Amino acid sequence: MSSALRQADRLRTVRYDIRGPLLRRAREIEAAGHEVVKLNIGNPAAWGLQAPDAVVRGLVEHINDAEGYSDARGILSAREAVSDYYTGRGVVGVGPDHVMLGNGVSELIVMTLQALLDPGDQVLVPSPDYPLWTGAVRLSGGTAVHYRCDEEDGWQPDVADVAAKVTPATKALVIINPNNPTGAVYSRETLLALLDVARQHGLLVLADEIYDHILFGSPDAPVVHEHAAALAPDLVVLTMCGLSKNHRAAGFRSAWLAISGPRERAADYLDGLELLANMRMCPNVPAQHAVASALADRASIDPLLSPGGRLREQRDHALRRLNAIPGVSCVEPRGALYLFARLDRAVYPVDDDEALVMDLLNAEHLLVTHGTGFNLPTPDHLRMVFLAPVEVLDDAADRLERFLAGRRR
Ligand code: PLP
Repeated sequence: MSSALRQADRLRTVRYDIRGPLLRRAREIEAAGHEVVKLNIGNPAAWGLQAPDAVVRGLVEHINDAEGYSDARGILSAREAVSDYYTGRGVVGVGPDHVMLGNGVSELIVMTLQALLDPGDQVLVPSPDYPLWTGAVRLSGGTAVHYRCDEEDGWQPDVADVAAKVTPATKALVIINPNNPTGAVYSRETLLALLDVARQHGLLVLADEIYDHILFGSPDAPVVHEHAAALAPDLVVLTMCGLSKNHRAAGFRSAWLAISGPRERAADYLDGLELLANMRMCPNVPAQHAVASALADRASIDPLLSPGGRLREQRDHALRRLNAIPGVSCVEPRGALYLFARLDRAVYPVDDDEALVMDLLNAEHLLVTHGTGFNLPTPDHLRMVFLAPVEVLDDAADRLERFLAGRRR
């Protein structure tokens, strides 16, 4: 008799709770004929925030040139556009040969870690984090060591904690800026201090900057995003970004990686990365043709972000509504697409935040994500996407408020 097929032991420690038991349950509720308000995934087009025409045209107009494999690193015109983009923003020495395209930043995260880690190697990852980072470190056989981000300080990384957690086994430092789930945009001082830790210990810097253009500034209170690579030309920095968020084309699965700094010091590692790029042949070619048009059309999101713009209004409205719920507080996100709300444990005695959001889903048909799903150690946060129109966010806030009223101490 043959035994049941089981997943690899390696996967037992890998989690990606944004989609998981909660989403499975949401599908069951939908299959039973109910509508679920799903505020769990940062997918702009799903909420009518569509990719600019120019980005779509980039793909459509080249569809007949896209039948064959491309260079494993990606087509030259896209790599040139990425190189020009970073050069124009103060990152020195990134030519088209130092750019690699991917099927989303997700693929690049997995590849960069698979190429780097042996069992026992450590990677410094923020807590909370976008959980693919922790998951991909573990998938690659490494250990994710979480450094603290300080909610009292607008969720800026606690650099002393980062420095204290470096060991001889530490290989890399992950910086997610603007941050998912917190919406923090890191100050220049914080970035310089983080980069200094990487410099002192010879760490590879992995900079996930997928929200680098989604910033909620105003003329009197500008929010500036600084590229880690521009601040540390002497370090090997892998900067990642793509079309999913800034350009609202998550379904194109198109992204890039720019390798800056003293690449000769990382030659062997970069050979390994190229091997992995070759093994997946190339990224989806039609979507690569949207990269140059996206970077040429970079500012198309600005009207959505500035005061009066749709994303800005939605962020402000959802923030107001959540902060008005007794015992709920939420740091104002300065970038990205999420509210990361804290539940005061003196008001809500929660021990299991995943169970809490499952109960919320069952009771109110509202899907959000629990904070521990982002590797936060305490079960007292939840993340809500603010991509939906104001009426939907209002309805979601009503549902959450009603549910939490029954959970108060
Ligand atoms: N990095 C961060 C911080 C994200 O929030 C996401 C998606 O939500 C990704 C990477 C993956 O993006 P994609 O694979 O669509 O490029």
